[in-house]
Amino acid sequence: MTEDTKTRKIAAIKGTKDILPQEARKWQKVETVAREIFERYGYREIRSPIFEATELFKKGTGETSDIVIKEMYSFKDKAGRSLTLRPEYTPSVVRAIIEHRLYLQPQPLRFYFIGPMFRYDKPQKGRYRQFHQIDIEVFDEKDPAIDAEIVEMADHLLKTLKVTGTETFVNSVGCRKCRPAYHKELRNHADKARKLLCVECQRKIDTNPLRIFDCKISGCQEVSQRFPKITDFICHECEEHFRKFCAYLDLFNIKYRLEPRLVRGIDYYTKTTFEVITPALGAQDAILGGGRYDDMMKVFGGPDMCGIGFAVGMERLVSLVPFENEETQSIYIAYLGDLAKELAMDVAKELRHEGIECLVEYRKRTLRNLMSRANKLGAKWVLIIGEDEVKTGRYQLKDMMTGEQKTVKRELILKTLKESS
Ligand SMILES: [Zn+2]
Ligand SMILES: [Zn+2]
Repeated sequence: MTEDTKTRKIAAIKGTKDILPQEARKWQKVETVAREIFERYGYREIRSPIFEATELFKKGTGETSDIVIKEMYSFKDKAGRSLTLRPEYTPSVVRAIIEHRLYLQPQPLRFYFIGPMFRYDKPQKGRYRQFHQIDIEVFDEKDPAIDAEIVEMADHLLKTLKVTGTETFVNSVGCRKCRPAYHKELRNHADKARKLLCVECQRKIDTNPLRIFDCKISGCQEVSQRFPKITDFICHECEEHFRKFCAYLDLFNIKYRLEPRLVRGIDYYTKTTFEVITPALGAQDAILGGGRYDDMMKVFGGPDMCGIGFAVGMERLVSLVPFENEETQSIYIAYLGDLAKELAMDVAKELRHEGIECLVEYRKRTLRNLMSRANKLGAKWVLIIGEDEVKTGRYQLKDMMTGEQKTVKRELILKTLKESS
């Protein structure tokens, strides 16, 4: 076996995916739009390491959470420490806030983040072990106005990206004071229906009955429809918060639906929870989900500071953004012969420094081949430099849209391009 055939056998790891240039353009667009919008709402980017101490995520998700039990990408490093590739983003932000005491700074605590996450999940269509998220987080804002503001920002993001036909679901998951009573009631109901639930859900009755609502099996869903609703159990404070949140959504003209079964299985989630879904992804698949986690900072050993945020799955979002073949403003330089080559290199440098996308390729081709290559690449113009052009100092500039070709002096190339763009 030669070296060459050996390397050819190495493929991408199961559950990972290459984002090839054409698709990457869409990713860039989504990222750019997201950054612009978040910055306009006062958010600033935070970048944290991809791996952290395993305890961080265990602390964050709670020992009984499914993520910790089955899905963490943990490994020992050379010093024998247990490290984990982050399965979610919030614990890292919270750690950074505490570590750098960001809560003492005058800026609002509004952060956004774009990057990969890792879960050792069963790979299936549209689900990856390395997946990407856009996250936003706000800390130290108790007022339900912020809950509505982030839903409005999410809505604005999706509309700007031309993702249409979405639906927004909202709910309250109560707080430490009112949730235990609901938990108890829910457990009683689930226990009575034990035989009708799947094995996984039967286990959840004892560990975390709220997660039964997440089960995708239709039998379980049918049963859980009849379970009591959390909104019938929330305390006065939670009820008021939810009422104001909904009123502010009305103010922003955001359409939403109450969904009492929209719950989160992690203990530190409180009050507001919401999800944006689209029928394009099939039932149950959310593009975006978020909510309040007023108790999380304390769990991580930080100050008693409330938090709220949402996360968007990039893979899903990118798949929903309509493809737009954006017209390129690029120029392809076709040269013939060695003297012309040097001129081509020099002109290309000048144009690039002036901000014009310019391509010269160094494989020998005939003029005909060069023209067809430029056409395939979708170049807007072709600059032809042949032997005559070298002698006369005049170049042929062809507009690929109109087919129009004109003779241009070297010093006027830039001006001509700028005028016709
Ligand atoms: Zn409450
Ligand atoms: Zn189930």
